[in-house]
Amino acid sequence: MDQKRILVIEDEKPIAEILKYGFEKEGFQVACAYTGGSGLEKAEEYKPDMVLLDWMLPDIAGVDVCRMLTEQHNIPIIMLTARGNVEDKLYGLESGADDYITKPFDLREVVARVRTILRRFDRVRGIREEQSAVEGLTVSEQERMVYRNGEPVELTPKEYDLLLYFLKHPRQVFTRVILLEQIWGYDYMGDTRTVDIHIQRLRRKTGLGEKLVTVFGVGYKYVP
Ligand code: CA
Repeated sequence: MDQKRILVIEDEKPIAEILKYGFEKEGFQVACAYTGGSGLEKAEEYKPDMVLLDWMLPDIAGVDVCRMLTEQHNIPIIMLTARGNVEDKLYGLESGADDYITKPFDLREVVARVRTILRRFDRVRGIREEQSAVEGLTVSEQERMVYRNGEPVELTPKEYDLLLYFLKHPRQVFTRVILLEQIWGYDYMGDTRTVDIHIQRLRRKTGLGEKLVTVFGVGYKYVP
């Protein structure tokens, strides 16, 4: 297996150094950036598999860096923050982050979470790297991209994962809790409202609209 690349965007150098040391010891490649701006540049050239992103950066708010990263790349992001507030967590997750780690953290826990997310990311990507066309949508699993009438559809990593999950399980009804487990993972701390928000965005962005059916009192299904 080739080495996974981690980009750490964190202005507190001692914390960045601890993460770099810890992940390198575990066999990852690590690059560090100490501002939001340089982090965005680094993401372009380094092509990381995962970003660890601090919430409080000196130039650009971490949450905005997160939004910019997910708009341009299909990379899972873990936000690092000293805050424990639930609203902040939701805010971060809605801006496209995949998970949240509160400082001070246990390095082993950070490594474990990164591994879990990378595994899930790879699994959803699927073993078969092929294109399939449905509903005027072309899905390239290799690129993790979706095209609508030839134009790329801007999806966050979670929106992409959720869409693919529905497309691969037509007519099957999923509860919000099941979707949270399958797409966000068992240890995800958010609530089922996250699923509703993602479904609404998918309906709009992909043009699938009401083909992503609300099953009242249960959850959602995709009806081709
Ligand atoms: Ca900071």
